Amino acid sequence: MQKIINVAIDGPAGAGKSTIAREAARRLGFVYIDTGAMYRAVGLCASRKGTNMDDAEALGRLMKDFDLGIKYANGVQRVFLGDEDVSEAIRTPEMSMAASRVSAHAPVRTALVELQRELAKRGSAIMDGRDICTHVLPNADVKIFLTASIAARAGRRLKELLEKGENVTLEEVTADMERRDYNDSHRENSPLVRAADAELIDTSDLSLEESIEAVISHIKEKTKDVL
Ligand code: C5P
Repeated sequence: MQKIINVAIDGPAGAGKSTIAREAARRLGFVYIDTGAMYRAVGLCASRKGTNMDDAEALGRLMKDFDLGIKYANGVQRVFLGDEDVSEAIRTPEMSMAASRVSAHAPVRTALVELQRELAKRGSAIMDGRDICTHVLPNADVKIFLTASIAARAGRRLKELLEKGENVTLEEVTADMERRDYNDSHRENSPLVRAADAELIDTSDLSLEESIEAVISHIKEKTKDVL
């Protein structure tokens, strides 16, 4: 049987993690597991149900009958709440902020981390998020911390949102991103930090293709004895 390879990628919002990880996974024949989407789904569910996103106990109750479905078709992840495919509904600036708020609370993290570890056991995968190298998969075969300057990250996110028809400015995107970075790296539960053994890849001055190649070449280097 072929060995299962787990690649863990962490980094701040807008560093290009999901685009790069999805494409790298496709080229390597791995599944791409997007953990941010799971926190976004909790945020969407809490906002629909009117749950206070700063109340850990209320979020704990929400998680008890939280009906999250994660499905993979051709390595692409779709996210369901019950029967509803919410993969697009979770991609708004409001849901980015909601995800950041709910993700600070232990009952939310505990439930999602358990699911993430289960998914990683099923086959070779690239999993990205904020605490994957440090907490979810501390024994991952490959660990990467993907980052870029705030100017590069905000510029890319603005372009993405404008293309989707969202009405936002660079100032708003930068402010949202800085707030999210601050929340994510200062929370008590699994804050965003670079693991000591994670390779730092800064994509500020790299094109998308160069970033994908940098990630794939690091994965190949680290797994040359098994891949
Ligand atoms: O990666 P993405 O921007 O979709 O993540 C949305 C939010 O979910 C992040 O800002 C962070 O607060 C939270 N998150 C997390 N841990 C992860 C992945 C995402 O706390 N592993």
